[in-house]
Amino acid sequence: MEAPLGQQSQQPSQEFPSISLSHLSSSAPSAVLSVFPSFAYDQADRPRLRFYQPSSFVPDLDLDLRKIQIFVLGHLELLCVGEEADDEEEEKESFSRAYKIDFKTKDESKAFILAFEKWKLGGVDAKTDGPLENGTIVVSKSKFDNKIDSTSSKMYFHYYGQLVHQQNMLQDYVRTGTYYAAIIENRVDFHGRIVVDVGAGSGILSLFAAQAGAKHVYAVEASDMVEYARRLIAGNPSLGQRITVIKGKIEEVELPEKADILISEPMGTLLVNERMLETYVIARDRFLASDGKMFPSLGRIHMAPFSDEYLFVEIANKALFWQQHNYYGVDLTPLYGSAFQGYFSQPVVDAFDPRLLVSPPIIHPLNFSSMKEEELYEIDIPLSFISSVGTRVHGLACWFDVLFDGSSVQRWLTTAPGAPTTHWYQLRCVLAQPIYVMAGQEITGRLHLVSHSAQSYTIYLTMSAKMWGPGAEQGGILQTSSCKLDLKEPYYRLSQPQPFVLQQDMQSQQQLMQSQDISPQIQDGTGPNIAVTPSQILDSLDPL
Ligand code: SAH
Repeated sequence: MEAPLGQQSQQPSQEFPSISLSHLSSSAPSAVLSVFPSFAYDQADRPRLRFYQPSSFVPDLDLDLRKIQIFVLGHLELLCVGEEADDEEEEKESFSRAYKIDFKTKDESKAFILAFEKWKLGGVDAKTDGPLENGTIVVSKSKFDNKIDSTSSKMYFHYYGQLVHQQNMLQDYVRTGTYYAAIIENRVDFHGRIVVDVGAGSGILSLFAAQAGAKHVYAVEASDMVEYARRLIAGNPSLGQRITVIKGKIEEVELPEKADILISEPMGTLLVNERMLETYVIARDRFLASDGKMFPSLGRIHMAPFSDEYLFVEIANKALFWQQHNYYGVDLTPLYGSAFQGYFSQPVVDAFDPRLLVSPPIIHPLNFSSMKEEELYEIDIPLSFISSVGTRVHGLACWFDVLFDGSSVQRWLTTAPGAPTTHWYQLRCVLAQPIYVMAGQEITGRLHLVSHSAQSYTIYLTMSAKMWGPGAEQGGILQTSSCKLDLKEPYYRLSQPQPFVLQQDMQSQQQLMQSQDISPQIQDGTGPNIAVTPSQILDSLDPL
C-alpha cells in the first residue's frame, strides 16, 4: 500500500489505495481526481474522511465523518454525500455535497465501506482491528430497499434497462405526445428552471424539458438505461449540455440543488402498479423547492361496473381443462377449484368498448403534490353506483388519468375506454360470481388495494346489489360477490379484436322504466343519482 500521507496529528489513521473522485457539481462537467482516502481523528477527536493528492500533506477534501453518508451504487462505485464546511464557520456556512468514488477492485471497495462504518461509529482503533475481510457490507438500507423485495427490484430494473421496453413507451404516442405537449405548451414553467426527471429512462422527458428552456435538468435513473440515456443526451448536445444524468435510486441519490419542477412518468396499470408513485412523492419531499411544481400533479382512478358475458365465459372456460376425469388415465378434477380461482385472480388488461359499462364511473383522486407516501401503502375506495340497465354485472372496470396543471395550459393524459388506446389499456377485475341488477338499482362495494413488497398490490374487490325479481320488495336480500386479485399478475387479453356485442340479457332502460317498480326519484329524474343512458356514460368519461 503506497500511503503518501503525512499525518496532521498523532491520532490513529487508516489509509487506502488511490481512488477516482468526482464531484457531482451542478452543471459543469466534473473533474475526476486520483486521490488517496484516509480515515483519521482530528485534534478535537472528530473522525474525518480526507482525500489527498499524491505526495501532498494537505487534504484536497476534509469531511466530518459524522455528517456524511455513503450509498453503494455498484461493486466499484460509491456515492459519498456530506456537509462541507469551513471549520470556523461550521454551523453557519455548511452546505451539502455529493462525490462519486470509483474503486479499482471490489475488495478495496468493501474494505473502504467497512472502515467507513467503523470510523463513523467511533471508538474503534482501526489499527488494532486486524485485517479487513470481504464481509457483509453494513450500509444503512434506503427507504426503497426497506419495503421492496430485492429480487423484485432486480427484475424490475433489469426490465427497464432494456431499450425494447423504453421504445414501447416512446411509441405510445398518446403518452409521449401528451407529455411533449404539456411541457412545450407550458414553457413558462420550465424556462430558466431547475428540473428533476424522476426515473428518466431513456432521458426523453429531460430532453423535452431542455427544449422548453430548462436551466438544468437532473435525470435520475436507477436502471442500466442510464448508459443509453447518456448517449442519447450526448448526441443532442445543444440540449444535453443542460442535462446531468445520475445513476441511482431516487430514494438514495443526492442532488446539489433543489428543483423548481419535477417531471416523471411513474404510472403503472391501475395508476399505482409498480409502486413508483411512492418514489415520485419521495422525490417531491427530497428535491422539490417548497413552491415547486409537479408534472403531473394529480392522478385519478376511475371505476365503473361492467357487463361482459364473453369475457366471463372465456375466463371460466380456461379452467375447464381441469374438469377432465381421464387425462392420460389421470383424474384432474381435484385441481379444478384452484384453477378456477387462479384465473379469476388475474386482473384483465385490454381495451374494451365503453358501452359495456353499466353506470357512470366514480373517481378516486390522488394528489401527488400533497399526499403522504404512506397513503399509497393501502388504498380503500368505497363503491356506490346506480345501474343504468338491467343486466348481469361481471365486475369492476378501472382506468386512470393524470393532470399537467401548467401555468399556461392544463392537459390531461387519459387511459379511458373509448379514448385513443395507450400501452396501459384498461383494467378489469372479474367476479367469479356475477351479480344481477335492474336499471336504477344501487350497486355498492369496496375496492381495497394493499401494497406488497413485489412492487404491486393485492386487490380485494366486493360488489353487492339487492336481490330483485319476485319477492324483492319484501326481502331486500343482498347478493354479494368478492374476489382477491394480484395486480402483479395481469392477464393481457389483447390478441383478439374486441367488438361490442349487445348483451342478450341487457334490457334497455326504456323497457325497464315502463315495466318495473322503480323509485319515483328515478322516474321523475330528480335526485343526485338518476339512471343514465349509455351515451351519457360515454359523455361522462371525458376528463375535461
Ligand atoms: N421517463 C421515461 C421512463 C419512464 S418508465 C419516459 O417517460 O419515457 C419509469 C422509469 O423510472 C424506468 O426507467 C425505471 O427504471 C425508473 N425508476 C423506477 N423507480 C425508480 C427509482 N426508485 N429510482 C430511480 N429510477 C426509477
